[in-house]
Amino acid sequence: MEEPLIERMREYGETIFAEMTRLAVETESVNLGQGFPDTDGPRSLLEGATRNIMAGVNQYPPGPGRPELRQAVSRYRSRHYGLDFDPDSEVYVTVGATAGIAASMLALVERGDEVVVFEPMYDSYAAMISLAGGVRRPVALRRDPSSGRFTFDPAELRAAITPRTRLIMVNTPHNPTGTVFTGAELAEIARVCREHDLIAVTDEVYEFLTFDGRPHVPLASLPGMRERTLSISSVGKMFAVTAWKTGWVTGPEPLVRAVRTVNQFLTFSANGALQLAIADAMDDEWEWIQRQRRALQDKRDRLAEGLTATGFDVNVCEGTYFLMADIRPLGYLDGEEVARALPREAGVAAVPAKVFYDHQEEGRHLLRFAFCKKDEVLDEAVRRLTTWHKREN
Ligand SMILES: *Cc1c(COP(=O)(O)O)cnc(C)c1O
Repeated sequence: MEEPLIERMREYGETIFAEMTRLAVETESVNLGQGFPDTDGPRSLLEGATRNIMAGVNQYPPGPGRPELRQAVSRYRSRHYGLDFDPDSEVYVTVGATAGIAASMLALVERGDEVVVFEPMYDSYAAMISLAGGVRRPVALRRDPSSGRFTFDPAELRAAITPRTRLIMVNTPHNPTGTVFTGAELAEIARVCREHDLIAVTDEVYEFLTFDGRPHVPLASLPGMRERTLSISSVGKMFAVTAWKTGWVTGPEPLVRAVRTVNQFLTFSANGALQLAIADAMDDEWEWIQRQRRALQDKRDRLAEGLTATGFDVNVCEGTYFLMADIRPLGYLDGEEVARALPREAGVAAVPAKVFYDHQEEGRHLLRFAFCKKDEVLDEAVRRLTTWHKREN
C-alpha cells in the first residue's frame, strides 16, 4: 500500500517518549525520560473519584465540562491571578491539556497561517500546527551565559512576525528548559501581540510548579492580553495524576467558543467523575500543592547536584519536572546517540533535547532529565551514571 498517512503528518513518527520508555522497560533502566511522577496525588482526590464512580457519575457530563469544575477553575484563576472568567462561557473542560492544544490549533489556525513558537517546544505543538495546515515560525530559547537560564532575544521574536502570523504559542513554566518567563519577558511578548493583533495560546500546565519563590505570571494578566489570550492548563501536573487527562481552557468568550466548536467533535466531553473530584481538590488541597512544589524543588536540587558531580553541565531550572544537562563536558557531542546508548550502557533513560527543536543542531548537546521521581530513584540514576562515566573514561 502507498503511505496512507496524509502528507503534512509524515514527519511525525512514533514519539521519542514512547520509544525511550520502551527501551527503559526492556533494559530495566531508571526512567528519567518521560515526565510522570512515581507517587500519587492527594488522597482526597483519589477517594473523591472512586466515590463519584460508585455513586453513579458514569454518563456523559455536559460538553463544556461539569459546572462544578468550571466554577472551581474560575475561582482559582481569580484568587491566584486576579483574572475573572465566566464559568459558563469562558471556561471549557478538555481531555487533558493535549486536547486543549489540539482543539485550539484546529479552531484558530487557518491553512497557511503562521504560528510563532519558542523552541525547544513541547512535541504536540508542532504536530497540531501541522495538522491544522499552519506553518511554524520558531524563535530560539538559548542559554544566557550570565544567568544560566534559557531566554529569547526580543529582536528575534520581532523578526519572526510576518503579515501571515496569526498566533503565538507560549509555554511557561517551560518544558523542557525549566524557564519561568519573567514579567519583562512576558511584557515583550504582550507588546508584540498587541502591535500585530495576534492571538496568544498559553500552555500553563506547570503553573504551580515554580521554584525558589518565583511567581507564575499568566500572559492573560498583562495589559491588553485578556481579550486575546487562551490559557490552557490541566490536572495532570497540578495534582500528580498524569493519567487523568482532564484539562481546561480559559479565555474570552469568542476564543473559548471557537475551541468548543471544534472540540465537540473531537472528544465531545471529558470524564465526569474525575471532574467532580478535581473541583473539590481545587478548593481543598492547596496545602498539598505547596508541599508538592517544595518536594519537587528539593528533587531538582538533588538531581542537579548529582548530575553536576558526574560531570554534566546542568542548566538553571526555575520550574516544571525537568532539567536540561549539557553532555559536552563528558566528552560527547550528540545527545541522541548518548540517549540511545544510556539505557543499555548505564541503565538510565533520558530524552535527547533535539527532538524538541526545529533547528535540531541547537539542542544537539542537551539531554532532558525528569526529576519528578522518588529520592531513591534519583540517587540510583546518579549512581548508575557515575559508574557509567567512570567506566567509559
Ligand atoms: C504534560 C504536558 C502537557 C499534557 O498535559 P495533559 O493534561 O496530560 O494532556 C501539555 N503541555 C506540556 C508542556 C506538558 O508538559
